This record gives sequence, structure tokens and C-alpha cells, in this order.
Amino acid sequence: MKIHLKRKSNLLILLITFLISPYSFSSDLWPNGIVKYRFEEDVPKITRRDFKRATRRWGESEYISFEEVPKSYLKPHSIIFYGSDGGCISFIGYDENDSPPMWLSDRCYYSIILHEIGHLLGLRHEHQRSDRDKHIVFNTDFLIKHTYSENNIFSTHDQLIGPYDQYSIMHYGEYVVPGMDDQYEVQTIHFKDKEKLFIPETQRDLTKSDFKKIEILYRINNVQRLHNK
Ligand SMILES: [Zn+2]
Repeated sequence: MKIHLKRKSNLLILLITFLISPYSFSSDLWPNGIVKYRFEEDVPKITRRDFKRATRRWGESEYISFEEVPKSYLKPHSIIFYGSDGGCISFIGYDENDSPPMWLSDRCYYSIILHEIGHLLGLRHEHQRSDRDKHIVFNTDFLIKHTYSENNIFSTHDQLIGPYDQYSIMHYGEYVVPGMDDQYEVQTIHFKDKEKLFIPETQRDLTKSDFKKIEILYRINNVQRLHNK
């Protein structure tokens, strides 16, 4: 979501580095679909509440579940930090060698957290799919370089699962803040189908195709896991 842009530059470098790394289709999925996480002490109550509400919503999928673990837990788990710079940032997927961090500030409301958890589960941005130009017009004229890369089409780890879904929680809204320090927004995305209207970001929710993507990714992964035993 556009609030991604309000982040510190060191975090930005981390995220961009991650985004350009090679993508393997199943290695970044959570084992058995169980996402383990814990909050750092300074994460506010309201953020914890919204995060847990978002895990319940994603957990309606029979292929994934969430488990809060104590600080003493040593195996990889997502650590939720309070992002005082206003950003909402997540790494993508599971890492068997590390604990993926997520930064949530007090600007990260429920539907944004749904989006960030989508990344945590391994989902990429819908508007970066290689078929996006059939469905949307993406105007990059106003975007500075780092923002453009965040919105560009994936070349190395495209995630073409199911039909393109403009209403996916992983799709950006129509307005984007063009640069990290800018205080204004520009319209960068138009639907080609004029009948379709954007849903305000605060009202967005998971779609059937969001659940379907998780099912396809995690069902295949679980089947492979059984065969490997
Ligand atoms: Zn995102």
C-alpha cells in the first residue's frame, strides 16, 4: 500500500534487496502453513489487536494458521516491531535461516496489516504481475526511482496464480505518494475496465482470489512435504 513509502532509507534498502533476490516457488512458504510470530514489547495494544484480527481473517483459510510464540522461541518466527517512522513493512515469506521482521507503525490500520501479512505468507504485489498491463494503466511519470522499482513488473519472480484481481489485498490503490518525503499523492493506476471502481484502502478486505492463491501455494507445498517424508 502507498504507506510503504514512508519508511527509513535503510529499511528501504533491505526491502529492495529482498525484492530483487531470486524467487523460489515453495521455499519461502511457512512449514505446514503455520506462521509463528511474536510482538516486541513496544508494539501498541491497538496494533496487536488489529494484527490478531487480521490473522483471524487470513486464518479462515484451512491451509494456514498463526501461533504467537514467546521471546525464548529460537526457531524462525516473524518478529513484529513498532515502526515509529510511519511505515508498514514486511519481508516476503518464510526464511529457514532467519526470523523475518515486520514493522508496523500507528498508521498501519487493519486492511494494511492484511496486506503485510499477505507478504509474510509469501504473496507478491498483484499490480506487479507480468499481465498487469492488460488490466490497468500504470503511470510511472511521477515516481522516483525507488518507488518505481517497487511498482514495476516482476521480471524474475512473477507470481501468476489465478486471474488478475484488481481488488486483491495485494493490489495497490490508485493513488501513490511519488517520493519518500512527498506529502501529496498522484493517481498512478487506472483500471482499463471503466466499469470497475477502486475500493478505498480503509475498506479493503481479502478476496476469494487471495484465499485461492494461499490455497494453491500451501496445498501444493503440503503435498510435496508428504511426498518428501
Ligand atoms: Zn506491499
